[in-house]
Amino acid sequence: MTRSPEEVLKIILSSKELPTLPVIASKLLTLTAQEDATLTDIANLISQDIALSSKVLRVANSAFYSFPQQIASLNQAVSILGMNAVRSLVLSFSFLSMKGRHKKSLFDFEQFWERSFVEASAAKLILEQIANADAEEAFTCGLLQNIGQLVFAVTLPNEYDGVLQEIKAGKAGSDPDEEHLEQVIIGCTHSIVGFEVTKTWGLPEILVNPIKYHHHPLAYKGNDPRHKQNICVGYLASVLSQIFYSNTPEVYHKLFRNEAKKLLDLKVLEINTILKKVDKVIEQSAQFFGVKINPVKTVAEILQEANLRLSLINLSYEEMNRELIKSKMELEKLTEELAHKNRLLENLANIDGLTEINNHRFFQNFLDSEINRCIRNDRTISLLLADIDRFKKFNDTYGHQTGDFLLKEFCRVAKEIIREYDLIARYGGEEFIFVLPETSSEEAMVVAEKIRKTIADYPFDDGSNIYQVTISIGVASARPAGNEFLKDDLISLADEALYEAKNSGRNKVVLCTSKKKKKWFAF
Ligand code: GH3
Ligand code: MG
Ligand code: MG
Repeated sequence: MTRSPEEVLKIILSSKELPTLPVIASKLLTLTAQEDATLTDIANLISQDIALSSKVLRVANSAFYSFPQQIASLNQAVSILGMNAVRSLVLSFSFLSMKGRHKKSLFDFEQFWERSFVEASAAKLILEQIANADAEEAFTCGLLQNIGQLVFAVTLPNEYDGVLQEIKAGKAGSDPDEEHLEQVIIGCTHSIVGFEVTKTWGLPEILVNPIKYHHHPLAYKGNDPRHKQNICVGYLASVLSQIFYSNTPEVYHKLFRNEAKKLLDLKVLEINTILKKVDKVIEQSAQFFGVKINPVKTVAEILQEANLRLSLINLSYEEMNRELIKSKMELEKLTEELAHKNRLLENLANIDGLTEINNHRFFQNFLDSEINRCIRNDRTISLLLADIDRFKKFNDTYGHQTGDFLLKEFCRVAKEIIREYDLIARYGGEEFIFVLPETSSEEAMVVAEKIRKTIADYPFDDGSNIYQVTISIGVASARPAGNEFLKDDLISLADEALYEAKNSGRNKVVLCTSKKKKKWFAF
């Protein structure tokens, strides 16, 4: 179960690992809080730490302040820079000297201070755009606003590692909400922890309030305009630093521009100045403070790279899309070819090789489905079974090849007589069957007669001779009903009729009058 913020604070504030403020910084805070403290008292206090003194003097003489004259002593520094500025400098140096003792933590102290330094420099630069503002204070605020993270890392290293792990895991493409993760995993945010810890160190409100509100500047409900200003600057500095550290710099760039206008009423020109100068300011400040940081790119460079990255992503996406479409089209083409070949194969299996009309197998299937259709619709179906007369003799007289020619020609001619949805199929050697769906026996007789007559009159011309043949046709019709209907019965009725046509002299059409006819046959 997650702890409450109060419980977390209790653990942290009583932790042996909690960093303490260096003695000089602590004494300085007490001193500056006293009304009767003189500049000399302050200078004397700082002078006790020689290293600190030289650092303060170095910065005081640097372009960080750009004073025209040389500042030779701490006394001079304090009187020229002012008490607040010197206090900020001492605090900044004190914090920068804090190092973690934890070994196996994911928390990177160097990186933390580098980042804090960037925020501090950004805060100073932002505040410099506003007349009469105390820029050193802003620098210290920026430097300190994430101190809660350092406190987490040293007092609750395991839990904070959990947070850092989540941040790392969610890094690609987006930026995780660090405060949310801290709240969920630890039970308190670094803003609150930083605020509470620095309060116990005795830091003045003007420095601790920005720590508390630097992620949510509008949550500050106090009336002090200086506090409000420092809070907004801290927040903006944090947004600005995200341009350097986040995966989506373009998002923070836009956010910075909007928020700077909204919160501090900065003009476009001022915002542009900040964005243009910030990298230089960071590098210079780092130099003055003797802090090592990685080379800083300009905001323009970062945005250009982000833009390029985005267009690369889009480009590769488009390319991917093109590839996909290409393979999809190829696949569709292949599928179609395959379907076409399958259709051809299927057709081949249903086609008679010599006459190129449907074969017996196809006829059987066709008749099945047509009978079913007749049953459903209560319609009549007719069959014509045609057989070439004396074809054996024809073959014997003109040769088998001429016989083949005649079979082919017969099919071509007969096909033209029937309707599109009628079927002509090769039943056997020189026997052909016609299926006439939805056709009564009378209508079937008309069609059969037409075929017979056409063939009888037709001059079969193979280029060297003209041949004449006749055919005999047996006709059978039925109005099939239900399961009792047998397809083979219908065929054999047509066969019987054909037999009768042959027997009665050939070149005839005979309608089945079989005694075998059943009740479902209509004649
Ligand atoms: P009928 O009038 O009684 O039908 O006499 P027919 O000679 O036509 O009858 P039969 O059944 O005795 O002979 C059929 C002949 O048809 C025998 C065979 O040579 C011929 N035939 C069958 N299939 C083919 C074929 O694919 N090509 C050729 N050229 N002749 C075929
Ligand atoms: Mg025959
Ligand atoms: Mg025959």
